[in-house]
Amino acid sequence: AFVRRPLIAGNWKMNMDHIQAIALVQKLAWTLDDASHDYDRVEVAVFPPFTDLRSVQTLVAGDKLSLLYGAQDLSSEDSGAYTGDIPGAFLSKLGCSQVLIGHSERREIHNEGDNVIHAKIEAALRHGLTPLLCVGEGLEVREAGEHVSHTLSQVEAALKGFTAEELSDLVIAYEPVWAIGTGKTAGPEDAQELAEAIRAKLAELYDKGFADSIRILYGGSVKSSNVASILGGPDVDGALVGGASLDAEEFAKIAQFE
Ligand code: PEP
Repeated sequence: AFVRRPLIAGNWKMNMDHIQAIALVQKLAWTLDDASHDYDRVEVAVFPPFTDLRSVQTLVAGDKLSLLYGAQDLSSEDSGAYTGDIPGAFLSKLGCSQVLIGHSERREIHNEGDNVIHAKIEAALRHGLTPLLCVGEGLEVREAGEHVSHTLSQVEAALKGFTAEELSDLVIAYEPVWAIGTGKTAGPEDAQELAEAIRAKLAELYDKGFADSIRILYGGSVKSSNVASILGGPDVDGALVGGASLDAEEFAKIAQFE
């Protein structure tokens, strides 16, 4: 039995335009309805591109869907001369409840470091958005055996100075970079090892009550065929799913992992 409510989150990355988004969300909602999905037991969230959010909002509000949605990134700033960036206020106005922060593709392709990620968490909190903080090591770090210390230092840097109260809704996703989009999945023991280590770090930075309340997800080539074993670890509270979230039936199956 899960002590924390599991969350199955789909990161669409740079896929699906706003028309395709409507079809995908509709099919996902129908498939979950057919399976009598209980959203109070297992939360389901999707993270489409920015340009899809208005369509998703219209559909979710119009059909009273229990699906949560959010953006894949946000600006650390609130307005002004930041060409191409999107502030948190616009996202919460569009009904987003969560926002991905520090995904490895943002860290790598856009050179986002600890300071930027910290500022983005602050921006999310300012606008009532739940930060879904992504952390995890690359292959070289894993091979050097430094995956735990590397990941924990990302957590510590991202959360520095925030209070437990401010972070009460925080979600953390452990995503080993070598397992993202590669078909290589960390074993259930690896997912549990890091989830447990992150929880212990939260207990050290805050307290045990806080640590026990925070959801820690695993991400990296999660599919319907491996989700149950990955979520078997007592500290793994859900999954952040990339590729497999683009197929409504497959993603619905993942959400129905039990
Ligand atoms: C991701 O983008 O967060 C992810 C885990 O991708 P995939 O499931 O495709 O490995």
